[in-house]
Amino acid sequence: MTPLEEIISTCRQLAFDLNFSRAKAWKAQDPQRVLVGFTPIYFPREVVHAAKGLAVGILGAGDRKPIIKGDAYYQSYICHMPRGIVELALDGNLDGFDGFVFPSICDVMRNLSGMFQLMGKGRFAKYMDFPQNFRAEIGGAFYKAEMEDVLRRIEAINGVQVTADALDRSIALYDRNRAMLAAIYDIRQDHPWRLAYEDLYCIMRAGLVMPVEEHNAMLEQVLEAIGRERGVPEDRIKVVVAGAFCEQPPLGLIKTIEAAGCYVVDDDFLLGSRWIEGAVGGGNGDPLAAIADAYLTRSVQSSVVYDVGNPKEKRLLDLARRRGADGLVFAAPSFCDPALLDQPLYFHQCEKEGVRYVQFQYNENTGQFKVIKEQVGAFADSIKLWEGEAATA
Ligand code: SF4
Repeated sequence: MTPLEEIISTCRQLAFDLNFSRAKAWKAQDPQRVLVGFTPIYFPREVVHAAKGLAVGILGAGDRKPIIKGDAYYQSYICHMPRGIVELALDGNLDGFDGFVFPSICDVMRNLSGMFQLMGKGRFAKYMDFPQNFRAEIGGAFYKAEMEDVLRRIEAINGVQVTADALDRSIALYDRNRAMLAAIYDIRQDHPWRLAYEDLYCIMRAGLVMPVEEHNAMLEQVLEAIGRERGVPEDRIKVVVAGAFCEQPPLGLIKTIEAAGCYVVDDDFLLGSRWIEGAVGGGNGDPLAAIADAYLTRSVQSSVVYDVGNPKEKRLLDLARRRGADGLVFAAPSFCDPALLDQPLYFHQCEKEGVRYVQFQYNENTGQFKVIKEQVGAFADSIKLWEGEAATA
């Protein structure tokens, strides 16, 4: 195996390990270390890192675990991921985690934080509100207080008092991580055949369950490998995938999108890893303020962020143009309020600007990909045919 193949293979195993073995092994090396689980989308992992902890992304049970007990905690018709997370908690997969943070994205997630408190999982289960007011003195101050609360809760467990220097060091590591992911996306924009999106997805997802230092070392090797030509270009269209920012589809479905004749050149799968556009920075004596400022001024567009004067539908289409995408694939979890409520807005904008799109819904345990392959395949073919006709007209 080449070094890149080895990384992909390791990441594929880590990304879907429902026992979080790598994170638990890391914690076992030092009694002061803590594990803090967080759910999608975005959580400032550098805060936990500075407190001698590892923030671990929890993305549900996927298609690897039947949901039985989880169904007793939620209506069975809602999105699947929260029930999968309850199942993981009740089955002991999250034992060894010290705390949990549930970022504010929807009412389902809000209830999940309450359920963890009822189940008595971890030393704390925090519903973390993110600012909806984007003025530094209001939303920024509020967000800083939320981060300080996380630090206090960790300190109560391991006694670590976080310094500004420690936070700056952690910010620098995650800035490096985000910068390398951005560089990989930039290479794939023009050379998507050098790294299949399915493989990139596994690499990114593994980064949510392992120390950032190790993940950065892997990303350096990935960048080195795809900086040179590899693979063979194929006759596919380029697409941006939107709507998949929380519950994740099975890997097979992600593979299906590319197998149906597309190159995914941007997306919002695992969006939290790439949430801040550019660097957080720091080094100004108030690192929490730097993280808050990055959130207020450099968050990616998302259905869960209030977009004052900067409409998300315009930002999404700008992104598609920047990536040279031929069309958009709207892929949303079934019953996902934030994703589905925004779709009419996006569709309207696409129609207004003549951008082609296709849409489907999924669950984390969707087992049948054939219909989606046909749908996306027909979409890709129609664009290729249409472009052929336009070129000869
Ligand atoms: S999939 Fe959608 S509705 Fe379900 S928890 Fe996530 S954001 Fe909320």
